[in-house]
Amino acid sequence: MKCIVCKHAETNPGTTTVTLERRGATFVFKDVPAQICPNCGEDYLDDAVTGSLVKSADAMVAAGTQVDIRRYPATV
Ligand SMILES: [Zn+2]
Repeated sequence: MKCIVCKHAETNPGTTTVTLERRGATFVFKDVPAQICPNCGEDYLDDAVTGSLVKSADAMVAAGTQVDIRRYPATV
């Protein structure tokens, strides 16, 4: 797909690091599959991937975790 931020390049499949904040807690997910713009570095996540990250973060919040760094796919 064409990058919608810089509108100059086609995105390539790759992985990125995502930081997610949920109810005051902060989670970092590494090696998340995404489409990456080689020009500006913007990353685009699939809705399914975003959904699974949010689900993992919510489960960690429910377990009392405030800060965590996980490798994707995160399992709780
Ligand atoms: Zn771009």
